[in-house]
Amino acid sequence: MSGLLQGKKLLVTGGSRGIGKAIATKAIENGAIVYNLDLGVDPDMESMKKLAADNNTEIYGYTADVSNEDQVVSVCKEILDHAGSIDILVNNAGITRDGLMMRMKTKDWDDVININLKSAFLMSREISRSMMKQRTGSIINMSSVVGVQGNPGQTNYCASKAGLLGLTKSLAKEIGSRNVRVNAIAPGFIASPMTDKLSEEVQNNYKAAIPLGVFGEADDIANAVLFLASDMSKYVTGQVLGVNGGLNM
Ligand code: NAP
Repeated sequence: MSGLLQGKKLLVTGGSRGIGKAIATKAIENGAIVYNLDLGVDPDMESMKKLAADNNTEIYGYTADVSNEDQVVSVCKEILDHAGSIDILVNNAGITRDGLMMRMKTKDWDDVININLKSAFLMSREISRSMMKQRTGSIINMSSVVGVQGNPGQTNYCASKAGLLGLTKSLAKEIGSRNVRVNAIAPGFIASPMTDKLSEEVQNNYKAAIPLGVFGEADDIANAVLFLASDMSKYVTGQVLGVNGGLNM
């Protein structure tokens, strides 16, 4: 059996549900050995292990709060001790704490910035060393269309997702000479627990603004990750890949 990621080791954060789960699934189907780092244990781990076995590969689950430096340093060491090296890092874990800025609690600002942005800094710092040493690697940061164009009620979230774009481009320039690529994906509205929280009226308003007229699927993002993770994109770094049905051009 062969796939685009045959034998590659992929570490994804927040891989127990939503877009992260689709990424883990797609990676396994393409032959990758997957390390899922999430806040809690994936309740669906047994079926993920079966999927991996069916594809002659493996999945391992680890837990940590990706915004907590001590936990990230410790869990990344544990993962690297087990894996030897990581070929692909997908900084996917993220949260929203929406609200108009005038009423936003400082904790909601800090939590979003720390979990969405600081986590990518911590994870990339700990994992990129082994990539640089082996002279190959791909880091993929999960931004958002609203990090590019802004969104009322999401100053904290948009700042974190825009911050990821600056981190992506700067790190791509820092470590490109070691053949480690760093790119971002900016999903539009993807049907998931995060968008399910939006009212029907808000959902319909967004759909009206999307040239393709529908929300995307988690699998659309997993396909973009597959491209950026594989050698199909070996000459692509420092880029922001919009996967948004044309919402932003
Ligand atoms: P989701 O369903 O809410 O899943 C997020 C995952 O991240 C969960 O497994 C969650 O764990 C984990 N997580 C949250 N905080 C964490 C922490 N501190 N440490 C470790 N793991 C943590 O989200 P999603 O919709 O799949 O979104 C995935 C990514 O895509 C996010 O970065 C999001 O901002 C981005 N995005 C999503 C959309 C969309 O339309 N859905 C659009 C643009 C961008 P728990 O289950 O334990 O909380």
